[in-house]
Amino acid sequence: MLRQPKKIPFAAVLSIGDELLRGLPDTNGPAIQAELAACGLETRCREVVGDSLPEIADALRRLLADYAVVICCGGLGPTQDDLTRLAAARALKRPLAFHAPAWRAIQARFRRMQRRPDPVNRVQAMIPSGSTLLPNAWGTAPGFWLQVRGGCFAALPGPPNECLPMLRRSVLPRLRSVSGPHGFGVRRAGLRVCGRGEADLQAKLGPMFPPSGQPELSFLLDEPGEILVTLTVRGMDALLARTLLRQGIARIRRLLGADCVGDARRSLPEAAGRLLSAQGRTLAVAESCTGGLICRRLTSVPGSSRYFREGVVAYHNQAKLTRLGVPQPLLAKHGAVSEPVAAAMAAGIRRTSGADWGVSVTGIAGPGGGTKAKPVGLVCLGLAGPGPTRIVRTVRFLGERDVVQRRSATLALDLLRRQLLRR
Ligand code: ATP
Ligand code: MG
Repeated sequence: MLRQPKKIPFAAVLSIGDELLRGLPDTNGPAIQAELAACGLETRCREVVGDSLPEIADALRRLLADYAVVICCGGLGPTQDDLTRLAAARALKRPLAFHAPAWRAIQARFRRMQRRPDPVNRVQAMIPSGSTLLPNAWGTAPGFWLQVRGGCFAALPGPPNECLPMLRRSVLPRLRSVSGPHGFGVRRAGLRVCGRGEADLQAKLGPMFPPSGQPELSFLLDEPGEILVTLTVRGMDALLARTLLRQGIARIRRLLGADCVGDARRSLPEAAGRLLSAQGRTLAVAESCTGGLICRRLTSVPGSSRYFREGVVAYHNQAKLTRLGVPQPLLAKHGAVSEPVAAAMAAGIRRTSGADWGVSVTGIAGPGGGTKAKPVGLVCLGLAGPGPTRIVRTVRFLGERDVVQRRSATLALDLLRRQLLRR
């Protein structure tokens, strides 16, 4: 197990490069964090520094003092603005040493490209003494790895198509081998919840999981209208951790009932799709204000062709008439955003598609088009199913056009899921 003043090892990620400070997004940093998280290693700090020797060295010294694992990326090129090797040598107090096999690998790579390396490339074979070379099968710059003061340090090149494969191939296996029998000691399990707000969930679940205890409870708004509830345990034997998580998740499921969509990794359309599949039923969708978003979310699930038949974006009143057979008098009397029209749209798409279930949405996404009686964010949803199942709902969402559309799509899918659960 890693020696570390704190009981649980934490990681820090340092992204290096002037371009990152000029606004180019640091995509490596979050990608590295995600890979570490999948190994149960929690990143507590991410920093970005430019191509400046004192700043890189300072950042590395600080991070190496505070974190058990430090991963940096960028600045391993052959040019004078590539300073990570030098800065690491300073921070680690280990002079750069020429690594003959690394130089041979660089020469071999150039030979394969039918070129000769420039003598300038030779600096890329210099790594802090005592560190292990991390070969780069995707580019020229090798990385390096060092275990120091009970912690681990890895330097990786900046191009994402080199950095991330090298992390997976050379760094993660080394981290796993030093992490000990219980891994890095952070384990999580999560549930996706619809139809409840964060405050409501806190009030309901908070008393079961006090802040200072284990498992620790946390919330994340995933998609507007969908919340991920996560339980985390730290520094525990694997078996005990799994048992605590399983029991905690089971208690939350019991408490939330149908509001719980299922495992957090499973999306809402996937959950609805699984129910349709299991029941051997099919679905068709009639969308107005969501403009195809429901169909997009349904079809983003692999295998959705088993249950999803078709979707119609009936935006204009004329389309509601001709495509879905919504009666003209209904539109004239109640307006396009109304429960009778939502019901007629759902029944219409069900009839014309031959699907078992028809779902519909009609609303005012904004920012214009609202009236006192029908304000922006007013949305009517319909559901027509086998037998006599006919459901309509009216809701008012507050927010931008995009939020109104996304929440409408979520509610439509959730309405369907809940009906399927009752079968
Ligand atoms: P080398 O690739 O020679 O080792 P390096 O590691 O510093 O040098 P750069 O030449 O600075 O890499 O950058 C190469 C490419 O990788 C650039 O397009 C740069 O924008 C991109 N890049 C570097 N760091 C990051 C990062 N943290 N996130 C996303 N892209 C990055
Ligand atoms: Mg760079």
